[in-house]
Amino acid sequence: MAILKIVKYGEKSLRQKSKEITKISKKIQILAENMIDTMYKNNGVGLAAPQVGENIRMFVIDVSENDEPFNPMVFINPKIIKKEGASHSVEGCLSFPNAFVDVRRYSYVKVKALNLSGKPFIVEAKDGSLLSKALQHENDHLDGVLFIDHSRNRFETTKALQDNNLPPVEEDKLLVEQEIEDKISELEKASDNE
Ligand code: ZN
Repeated sequence: MAILKIVKYGEKSLRQKSKEITKISKKIQILAENMIDTMYKNNGVGLAAPQVGENIRMFVIDVSENDEPFNPMVFINPKIIKKEGASHSVEGCLSFPNAFVDVRRYSYVKVKALNLSGKPFIVEAKDGSLLSKALQHENDHLDGVLFIDHSRNRFETTKALQDNNLPPVEEDKLLVEQEIEDKISELEKASDNE
């Protein structure tokens, strides 16, 4: 058991594409355990391997509530096999201490991955749930994509980064996502009319 050092925004490994895991060795198993400990220690709901300097396709998530038992999940070589809908909410990231930003997400995702025994499993997350957001956030890390790339308002993001002494927004990484933004606007209009 060990608490690992978390890579901060601005460091290269966060922008690199991670490699598939070809063998779930003892080393990978220990890394997964240490990532879970590191996530808990930092009160995170997810942590991806590139955030601890390992550019391999693995992340851990635990979205259990305070009054529920711990439920750590390990995802190896995950793939989002279905995504639908639109949602948005304020997210943070352990690599961006104290910076919180409103980001766009799909509301529904279906993810296929391997567990630590190498057995395939499928997880579905609906209605813009915490699990749905965490799956998209962590999966992005494996492709060098960061939550701020999904920002709804780049000016607010710029300020959030500045206020926390983090490097500026990388303009060329910002995702347009017009279709998701249009759906979010429609949902907002519908709720205003209620
Ligand atoms: Zn993150």
